[in-house]
Amino acid sequence: MTGEPQDDCLFCKIVEGHVPANVVRETDTTVAFRDINPQAPTHILVIPKVHHPDAASLAAAEPAIAADVLREAGEVASEEKLESYRIVFNTGGGAGQTVFHAHAHLLGGRGMQWPPG
Ligand code: AMP
Ligand code: ZN
Repeated sequence: MTGEPQDDCLFCKIVEGHVPANVVRETDTTVAFRDINPQAPTHILVIPKVHHPDAASLAAAEPAIAADVLREAGEVASEEKLESYRIVFNTGGGAGQTVFHAHAHLLGGRGMQWPPG
């Protein structure tokens, strides 16, 4: 069922503590941890504890938790002392999504190009 933990989901396993992660912040509804393959000096993933396959699905089903993810991204950016940063939600394989549990990438600590690749 939507929102329930999925046995085959890496990020559900991180939420449950079955896979280790470098956690920087945790709330009742979210976990933030360092990306294992960082693409910037600061690269942190902010995920909802509930399982939804992507950001739009999360926002449609549980909008308050989608807001929690965004607010937490801002809190992490403050803690990391980032004045400028990018929040990315890859959605679909063609856009680079590889883990189908909604997550925000918080990227900062270097210059960013526009348009993104
Ligand atoms: P995406 O490609 O947008 O689905 O993002 C998935 C991200 O999860 C990638 O940036 C991976 O480097 C990252 N990732 C995969 N496994 C782990 C892990 N065990 N701990 C932290 N980050 C991970
Ligand atoms: Zn999941």
